[in-house]
Amino acid sequence: MLATVIPALEPVLLPVEGVTERFPVRRVYCVGRNYADHAIEMGHDPSRQPPFFFQKNADNLYAGSEFPYPSLSSDVHYEVELVMALAAGGANIPAGEALSKVYGYGVGVDFTRRDRQAEAKKMGRPWEVAKAFEKSAPVSALVPAAKIGHPQQGAVWLDVNGERKQSGNLNQMIWKLPEIIAELSKLFTLAPGDVIMTGTPAGVGPVKRGDKVACGVEGVGELTVTVV
Ligand code: MN
Repeated sequence: MLATVIPALEPVLLPVEGVTERFPVRRVYCVGRNYADHAIEMGHDPSRQPPFFFQKNADNLYAGSEFPYPSLSSDVHYEVELVMALAAGGANIPAGEALSKVYGYGVGVDFTRRDRQAEAKKMGRPWEVAKAFEKSAPVSALVPAAKIGHPQQGAVWLDVNGERKQSGNLNQMIWKLPEIIAELSKLFTLAPGDVIMTGTPAGVGPVKRGDKVACGVEGVGELTVTVV
């Protein structure tokens, strides 16, 4: 390995259920408005528009039990999502081949500075401040598709302090998993390690310090974080 003039970046590694080897994260893509009822609650057209994507940073993802409330926001929202982790990539991947690229799945939260996002939308500014801040995406251990298959339906839920806030089903996705990969790979050349957060159902809302956020995707896993 060549010497570096400053410390080289450590890879972001997510745990995988049942094995000691970890999953190295390359890029993180997120799908916007992929459940009709969430599009409606955000004031948007729920019909099948072409999907749009935004990114978080690889090091925003972590397997941890604490979510640090970020600076410069007073309206931080949870969004529970099915997380898809790729073992292979490519450009212009046909939907029919897309699932063969998936290593496995997990449960994640796309924490969002909603006030900053609303401001960005209004001003026509980018979303990074709202979406791509440190520790903005706690993720469960990944589960290999070889073990659980490719989930097409199943409850997607999130509780805050024991109260159910989000209650959707994977079968409500506007763009299904193979279509997400196919569409994304028209825009970007995907590669092993890429992670896709697949959108959230309705019921998003704010958290405050001390809240206990528990969430899960049926057949995939569960995740609990405390807001600190
Ligand atoms: Mn989201």
